[in-house]
Amino acid sequence: MTDYSKNLEVKISTDVFVAGGGPAGAAAAIACAKQGKKVFLAEAGGCFGGTSTQALVPELMNFDDGENFLSGGIGRTVHDRLFSDTPSNRQWYVVKSETIKLLYDELVAEAGVDFLFYSKVVDVITDNSGRVKYAVLSGKSGIYAVSAKIFIDCTGDGSLCAYAGADFEYGGENGTVAGATLCSVWGGIDFSKKNFIFDGCRYQEAYEKGYFSQYDGILPGIKPTNPEIGVGGGNVGHCFHVDDTDERSITEALLYGRKSMLEYERYYRDYLPGFENATLIQTANVLGVRESRRIIGDIVMNYEHFLARQVFDDEIGRYSYPIDIHPETPDRKGAAEFTQNVSKQYGPGESYGISYRALTPKKLQNVLVAGRCISADRSMQASMRVIPCCYITGQAAGIAAAVACDGGDVHNTDINGIQKRLKEFGAYLPNF
Ligand SMILES: Cc1cc2nc3c(=O)[nH]c(=O)nc-3n(C[C@H](O)[C@H](O)[C@H](O)COP(=O)(O)OP(=O)(O)OC[C@H]3O[C@@H](n4cnc5c(N)ncnc54)[C@H](O)[C@@H]3O)c2cc1C
Repeated sequence: MTDYSKNLEVKISTDVFVAGGGPAGAAAAIACAKQGKKVFLAEAGGCFGGTSTQALVPELMNFDDGENFLSGGIGRTVHDRLFSDTPSNRQWYVVKSETIKLLYDELVAEAGVDFLFYSKVVDVITDNSGRVKYAVLSGKSGIYAVSAKIFIDCTGDGSLCAYAGADFEYGGENGTVAGATLCSVWGGIDFSKKNFIFDGCRYQEAYEKGYFSQYDGILPGIKPTNPEIGVGGGNVGHCFHVDDTDERSITEALLYGRKSMLEYERYYRDYLPGFENATLIQTANVLGVRESRRIIGDIVMNYEHFLARQVFDDEIGRYSYPIDIHPETPDRKGAAEFTQNVSKQYGPGESYGISYRALTPKKLQNVLVAGRCISADRSMQASMRVIPCCYITGQAAGIAAAVACDGGDVHNTDINGIQKRLKEFGAYLPNF
């Protein structure tokens, strides 16, 4: 241990500070700025979109429940700008990461959000009453502080909340987490010759012939992002036992993920029609992490809420994706549990409510959390982590921050006022 102290320049003072510009952070910043508040967003990477752009995730899950458009507001804008020609019927959408990156650039700028890339929250400064006063940022210019009335943690791994002393849970028993994936870009594919549904359809056979160094029977696959030029986005392979709060663990996962793609390249070429010339073009610079910290809020959304299609008085939206916990271990048990969980699909028109209290971290007065690190048990997190739901929780946090700005306490704020503004913003709130 060593001491380190420094006077920090307060370079920016704002009403609302948003940490992280993934789907949740972009939605939070846009929604809040549209309420007339001064918003500053700090993004550690070089673009908005988070996992979906920097980690090259090639798909967006459903925006609707088969009858109702659930991701109204920002989700509606994204859907209509990118997929207006595809009817919304529990559809999953293949997406080109460059297209969605540009859309976020436009939407964030249009809303009047001030933002910086390559700006990472590395700490916070709090007072004794659980109020965060400053976020400490590291950028190309060095370390500096940003002051705000309300802080929103959209880092995906809940790091701002953790630095501020929030309680959190991590993974399951013994800290096991859903497998991470190093997503990838592939070329040389003739998608017109594809005559199978699942890319893993011949995995067992190949595994038994020694194609793979570890068992990983769940293979989401290569999606046709640019089929006209034979290019696809790969959600291929898993890195197991990754601790997303430990850079050594992430380093090892990236090394393994890159190497493992060569095994998949051989599998695709030898087994799958249309993929005879499949060529790995690139792996992402950022590991795709599905599960990390889950911040403990005033309520923990849980599996019972999922089963009950719960309605909350303070709901800020509703969503309907199944429980999608990817295998935690490289064996058949992990794959079987995954298949059993994702089979628990809702029927058309069914959804669960999301309580505002899942966005309010206990102990912290002026901090909200949105996106994949909100307050939920593992099952519920595995449903709420997908992108259209991150728009729902992100925009709710943004609007709640605008409402809480003057009082400064996110736990005692006007929930009716938040719901009213959300509804005006386009959110799906049938019970309000
Ligand atoms: C392999 C994989 C496949 C997936 N497939 C799908 C799919 O098909 N469809 C779907 O809808 N969802 C999918 N998901 C889920 C979805 O991509 C993520 O859960 C979602 O992007 C989470 O959004 P978020 O905004 O909460 O966090 P993230 O997308 O993780 O964004 C967080 C952002 O915060 C930034 N950040 C982190 N720490 C800091 C810090 N300290 N300071 C400043 N900035 C910081 C990061 O750089 C990042 O840009 C997948 C996820 C993975 C990993």
